[in-house]
Parts: sequence; C-alpha cells; structure tokens
Amino acid sequence: MEEQDIVSSTEATSGAPGTSQGVIPAHLLRGQKALVTGANSGIGRATAVALGRAGADVVVNYVAGKDEAEKVVEEITGFGVRAAAYEADVSDEQQVVAMTDRMVREFGTIDILVANAGLQRDAPFTEMTLAQWQKVLDVNLTGQFLCAREATKEFLRRGVVPEVSRAAGKIICMSSVHQIIPWAGHVNYASSKGGVQMMMETLAQELAPKKIRVNAIAPGAIRTPINRSAWDTPEALEDLLRLIPYDRVGDPEDIGHAAVGLASDLMDYVVGTTLYVDGGMTLFPGFATGG
Ligand code: NAD
Repeated sequence: MEEQDIVSSTEATSGAPGTSQGVIPAHLLRGQKALVTGANSGIGRATAVALGRAGADVVVNYVAGKDEAEKVVEEITGFGVRAAAYEADVSDEQQVVAMTDRMVREFGTIDILVANAGLQRDAPFTEMTLAQWQKVLDVNLTGQFLCAREATKEFLRRGVVPEVSRAAGKIICMSSVHQIIPWAGHVNYASSKGGVQMMMETLAQELAPKKIRVNAIAPGAIRTPINRSAWDTPEALEDLLRLIPYDRVGDPEDIGHAAVGLASDLMDYVVGTTLYVDGGMTLFPGFATGG
C-alpha cells in the first residue's frame, strides 16, 4: 500500500479525551457509491466522512439542516471523491423512491446503503402517545425498510461488478444495543431496534443468494446530539461510564470505522451479523463484581 493511500482519521475528530485514533486506507471503497441516511449529524455524519475517506462517492441524506449537510459534502469532496446532499424523509415512501432514483441518475448506481437515520421520543409507558410510538417506528424501522427495499432493487438490477466489489450490494442497518437490552421509558425506541435486528437478519437470509450482504451495527453510548443528556454533565457521565467496561464514551468515528470495514470486501463473508460497537456495554457489566 502506498503511503498516500493512508489517510489519518484523527484530524476529523475533536481531540476530546477518548477520541478514536485510526487510519483508513483511501482505496478500500474506491469506485463505490454510498448512500448514508441522516448524514448531517452525529453517527451518520462520521460514517459518511469515513466512507469518503475510504474512496467512496457519498450521498449525504438529510431531512432538516441543509447547511450542516452541505458542510459534510464539502468535507467529503476534500478527499477527492464526489458527494452531494439530498433532502428526503426516510419514512416517506415517495421521497425515498425519488432519492434513490436521483442517486442512480446522478451517481450511476448504489453500492452501499447505511440506513442510519433515527430518533427518540421518550416517555413513561402510560404517558406515551400513539404519535410518539408511531413516529419512532416510522423513522427507525419503516425508514430502514423503505431505503433497503429501494437500494436492493438497484443492487439486483446491476448485479456484481467484480472490479468494484465481490458483492452486488451492501446494506448496513444502524441498530443499537437496545435491540437486545430492554430500556424502560423508551419502549418505542427499543421496539424499533428489536425490529431492525429481525428485519436485518431476514433480509440477510433472503438476499444472500443474490450476493447482497445485509448486516447491522449496534452502537453503545456514542457522544451525539441524540443522547446529550446522558453525557453532558459530570454526574450523568459517571452514571453512564458504570455501564461501559471499556471506560469511555464512544465517538461517532468509532461507528464510521466499523461501517467502512463492514462495507468493504475485507468483510465479504460477513452476512447477517450485528457488530456491537459498544465498549463492552452488552457484556452485563453489573456481573463484573456481582452475581
Ligand atoms: P443524531 O440525532 O445526531 O442523528 C440522527 C440523524 O437522523 C439526524 O441527522 C436526523 O436529522 C436524522 N433523521 C431523523 N429523522 C429523519 C427522517 N425522517 N429522515 C431522514 N433523516 C432523519 O443521532 P445519532 O446518535 O447520530 O443517531 C444515528 C443512529 O444511531 C440512529 O439510528 C440511532 O438510533 C443510532 N444509535 C445512536 C446511539 C448513540 O449513542 N448516539 C446509540 C445507538 C444507536
């Protein structure tokens, strides 16, 4: 590998304690076209940037916050690849179809989908409104279903192009440790992520014979706007760290790096798996000293 093919990913990070260090080979995804939903913030942003560093052309989807999306595009084009910001609400069928059609028209095809967009609407169970339940299911689960379906149509139309990738397409569903950890006060969110797990595994089983790899990433606690209250005071941070054996909150780049790996042919034999990127949160840390 030539030296200029190695791009440090550290300068994209804030330099905060615990910031992930690493290198991304700049040719790993060269020639591939990636769509990342909810890519103007947090994990989606870091994932879109990491895919761009790895050589992919990237569509940065957003539903609100065009300026942020344009900044992500600017950062990605700085790596010498193509990028564009597309507005679409992932829970709206027509908008998802229009977005994927536009990507095929303007970028030629889709090789990688990172179905990342998601939100929380928290409430104690008896106070949770149907609207709160429905909104979270619509975005977190139905949104992934719609994006995966439309991307899959394009993967099947195009088939495998061996010079580009051994697979006809890769789908990465952004799940959560809450696909297996129940979460009081968040029944809509936990149910949506449990649904993502079974949707991902079923799609993986159905699509593997067509050479489409479907996998998920289950982040633990990652420092983003979605969970600010869990880490932005010293007391909250101390409580949170008790749940993380590796003793640091994750950075969005931790997830971006995992997505690059899963999307690349280095992981061509990884099918239907959830990669937990959680500092050990799912290792039942309460049992380290108890039980
Ligand atoms: P975030 O709030 O920073 O980002 C969420 C993104 O989704 C935003 O860009 C938002 O605009 C977008 N979005 C929301 N509704 C949308 C819609 N209808 N259409 C298109 N985009 C929409 O939060 P994040 O932490 O980066 O979350 C990204 C994903 O990671 C989510 O699926 C979340 O459930 C998952 N996750 C996050 C953590 C964490 O600790 N941060 C942990 C586990 C899972």
